[in-house]
Amino acid sequence: MADRFPRLPPSGIKVIVVGAGFAGLAAAIECDRKGHSVTLLEKVDDMDEITRIGDIISFDPNGSVAFERWPGVVDAMEAIARQTTWLDLYHHEGKFVTRQSFAHEKAWGRRINGHRGQLHNIIYKHAVARGIDIRLGQRVEDYFETDDPPQAGVILSTGERLSGDIVIAAEGVRSRGRKIVLGFDENPKSSGYAVYRAWYPADRIIDNPKIRHLVANGDTHQGFIGPDIHFLASSIKNGTEVNWVFTHIDDGNIEESWQFPGKPEEALTYLGGWCDVVHELVKSTPPGRLIDHKLVYRDPLPTFVSPRARIVLIGDSAHPFLPTSIQGASQSIEDGVVLASCLELSGRADIPRATRAYEKLRYDRVHRAQAQGPKTRERWHKADWSKVWKNPEMIHLPRETWLLNFDAEKDAYDRYEEVVAASKTSEAKL
Ligand SMILES: Cc1cc2nc3c(=O)[nH]c(=O)nc-3n(C[C@H](O)[C@H](O)[C@H](O)COP(=O)(O)OP(=O)(O)OC[C@H]3O[C@@H](n4cnc5c(N)ncnc54)[C@H](O)[C@@H]3O)c2cc1C
Repeated sequence: MADRFPRLPPSGIKVIVVGAGFAGLAAAIECDRKGHSVTLLEKVDDMDEITRIGDIISFDPNGSVAFERWPGVVDAMEAIARQTTWLDLYHHEGKFVTRQSFAHEKAWGRRINGHRGQLHNIIYKHAVARGIDIRLGQRVEDYFETDDPPQAGVILSTGERLSGDIVIAAEGVRSRGRKIVLGFDENPKSSGYAVYRAWYPADRIIDNPKIRHLVANGDTHQGFIGPDIHFLASSIKNGTEVNWVFTHIDDGNIEESWQFPGKPEEALTYLGGWCDVVHELVKSTPPGRLIDHKLVYRDPLPTFVSPRARIVLIGDSAHPFLPTSIQGASQSIEDGVVLASCLELSGRADIPRATRAYEKLRYDRVHRAQAQGPKTRERWHKADWSKVWKNPEMIHLPRETWLLNFDAEKDAYDRYEEVVAASKTSEAKL
């Protein structure tokens, strides 16, 4: 076991992680790699419940660089990921506009696009194989931290209290950890958008002459751009499975469930005047395979760290992303990597120094990444077609090197001392 999963000598730091989504698993695995002792608490009893759910999710090189350090993970992911290095973009009435190639990004690392549940399952299995103490069926109701002794902990729904040197709250958009960090309850806002998402076997479309080209020759990836809507479709696993998603304006109530059922006939009402390919993809969706997910938004939180600096928010708990940023999952991995590295550098004697350094290292970067979401959405939804036809690259996805060609672990090691020194200077001035 020790050879298979190399780890640093024990640091003596006892870490409690709440939530086994991508953020919580990344934090747990990275803490284990760095020799911290981890207990991971997850409210669901059976991980199959969440590793079955979801549809397309994307990891860019800045997220997948971490997977390369987890033996076996990245190869297992690539085996089920979409095998395309481009995105074909069309006008919503069907005319081809431009192909955006991602081939040059190979030098930055791997892009992994696949089924959310299946990719999640690979990481979960890796955490299990490492021997991490994962406790399922443990719902955290509340958090606490004390000065004497200096510790943080959680209260479970059973009333049981668990404590450690630090608690990492990775329970997603409905995080309870946010209350102790902010000092007040904070509710999500509607983003004004919702997203229909579907995933189904390609045999639903292989005999349909209008869309069989999407699956007949292996994997494909295309986007259709129209007023206030973008529709993305891809085929995966050598063209044997299909998924499509489209974002649309929504003024309904806020729902945060991933399991809100959608109906193809309702989805079609948003798509008047759209091309046959889009209509046929929606109409081919089998019963029970469509989700209408309301996108929530939160303004940037003032901090990710609790008053005594022993409870920390990561992933969607700290910063929910819109899908058009294509960074929610990658940023949640970066969070775990950076926090585990800061704990390694601070040691057990100064956990608050580690958590404050984590916040400094992450805060600007993650909010800059978050801001890409609305920017891309506007680029597509409000496209000025008289200009786009002359300069099709205007609607390419922004793929910026500062964001994608980035190793969060290296950055944490390089800048840790600098951000700690900067914090001391600003504290001295107060
Ligand atoms: C079921 C599901 C399906 C999703 N599908 C997609 C998708 O198809 N495409 C996409 O782009 N994004 C999807 N997302 C969102 C995406 O996974 C996240 O935005 C991103 O990966 C960051 O994840 P996170 O770990 O911060 O939060 P999450 O992925 O939300 O994980 C939070 C975890 O914490 C657990 N938890 C919550 N409250 C408690 C508590 N009180 N005590 C203990 N455990 C708790 C939850 O059960 C969950 O496992 C999905 C999220 C979920 C939960």
